[in-house]
Amino acid sequence: MNVQRIMLGAQDAAGPMGQGYRGLELAALPEYTPPLPRAGPGANVSHEVAMILIDGKQTARDIRAELKAQVEAAVSAGRRAPGLAVILVGEDPASQVYVRNKERACAEAGILSFPYRLPADTTQEALLALIAELNGRDDVDGILLQLPLPKHLSASACLLAIDPAKDVDGFHPENVGRLSLNLPGMVSCTPAGVIELLRRYNLPTRGKKAVVLGRSDIVGKPLALLLARPGEFGDATVTLCHSRTPDLAAECRSADFLFLAIGRPRMITGDMVREGAVIIDVGINRTDDGLCGDADFESVSKKAAAITPVPGGVGPMTIAMLLKNTVQAWEGRA
Ligand code: NAP
Repeated sequence: MNVQRIMLGAQDAAGPMGQGYRGLELAALPEYTPPLPRAGPGANVSHEVAMILIDGKQTARDIRAELKAQVEAAVSAGRRAPGLAVILVGEDPASQVYVRNKERACAEAGILSFPYRLPADTTQEALLALIAELNGRDDVDGILLQLPLPKHLSASACLLAIDPAKDVDGFHPENVGRLSLNLPGMVSCTPAGVIELLRRYNLPTRGKKAVVLGRSDIVGKPLALLLARPGEFGDATVTLCHSRTPDLAAECRSADFLFLAIGRPRMITGDMVREGAVIIDVGINRTDDGLCGDADFESVSKKAAAITPVPGGVGPMTIAMLLKNTVQAWEGRA
């Protein structure tokens, strides 16, 4: 079998069948068929194989434009704009950058942001009092508490104090419980962004074997729950792996869909991946040669039917889903 691989970006052919998703109704997209040729009759023919490079940057841009149009239409019809309160305690430089990016994205989508920059020595009582005040405000639809907090503050106590209806990060136990019971609620932004990528690239997981690496509360665990719940982009047979999983390579090789969220630079290599698998790399690792994911992109992309790059894959989806959750909270409070 002579297989030539070509890479397709979102602009060229965002769907695995070679059709762009933009401008198309999702329902009109065809059923996903893995594009890689299989061994068997006809295997000696020369093939051109399309590998889908999943463009999270463009997808996030599309979502933000859709939200902006939705907000603009409602505001011009007389509704107040959605509002997101953003609380940052202390001066952690990375958190300052994240918060600025979130506020900028809000402004672009027509969402009002209410910034609260609190000193590093803020007391637990003062922070809880602010959260209580924001819970009661009609113009605040979402409350985002930037983590990590300074060591003397309890993140879990603060997250528990946020009104679940305004919990746009989806971290409140009520929302986590709703997710596990398949009830509507706020879903953690990164796993929600992963599912949204699958949806927009028409890569249904129904009936497939999904393997999730990493069991954190903000990525791996909620992602496993999303993949296991009923639906075209759920209904997977899910395996959740972690540092005590005995044979990680065998688990990876069993996956039709492999989700990486372990924070280990380039740990998953081509020999650990099944030919034709869809690889979603959530990992963001800083190395001497820049940012990379948990997959060794070079070798893994040679076998994947579709893969997210790092950067430019899952990363940009997180803020887009934060905005989406804020608009959802605003709609829910109409
Ligand atoms: P985390 O809380 O540190 O959890 C890491 C998980 O990976 C844990 O469950 C851990 O297992 C498992 N793990 C670590 N080393 C392993 C190994 N060698 N083999 C198997 N499992 C291993 O991480 P996180 O917050 O979920 O983040 C994971 C990655 O995603 C990081 O690179 C982070 O930067 C990135 N991330 C990206 C976004 C985004 O917007 N794209 C958002 C959040 C996180 P144990 O539970 O057994 O320790």
